[in-house]
Amino acid sequence: MALRSYSDVPNRVVRLFLEQAGRQYDQNRGLPLFGSMPTSLLSRFGNSCAYCGDAAALVAEHVVPINRTAVGLHAWGNIVPACEPCNKVKAGNPWEGHPRLDGPRRSAIAAYIAEYRYKPDVTELRIVVEKLYELADTQTRALIDFGLVASRPHIAGLHTPPPTDLVTPRRELDQVVAGPTDSATR
Ligand SMILES: [Zn+2]
Repeated sequence: MALRSYSDVPNRVVRLFLEQAGRQYDQNRGLPLFGSMPTSLLSRFGNSCAYCGDAAALVAEHVVPINRTAVGLHAWGNIVPACEPCNKVKAGNPWEGHPRLDGPRRSAIAAYIAEYRYKPDVTELRIVVEKLYELADTQTRALIDFGLVASRPHIAGLHTPPPTDLVTPRRELDQVVAGPTDSATR
């Protein structure tokens, strides 16, 4: 996996939290565990993409994105089948503005959200999400720092000693700092 940035970890923690919170939300509403794309949901959208109607390979798409900004949940009423291109186009944007959405499909998504009463308290959730992000960010940095300190002797061992021509001027510098030696004063 390519090294990207420290923020990958807190973002991932936020996503995992929103997945778990979604399960809790479903449970509280007396709904079955979402799991992988249920056949009932697929047939509700005619076994096709909820945004464009294509029957291509479908993925689970979060109507309200499950990220720090939008604070969507992985829960009934917030997951629709979508083709990969529509999923990519949508990314983190609001679903209502999806360029491939027509009137009937817009109504179908709205009816689905309403039927499952998907309306979590986003304001309160956002406070938790922000705190989680901040904690995960601090902890991540502390862990990496710990690793760097703990591995310092081992990382040093991987390197060959610096070439002598780099060491010599350093010795001269030390002499300058320490002042003239006995032999130099005589
Ligand atoms: Zn599509």
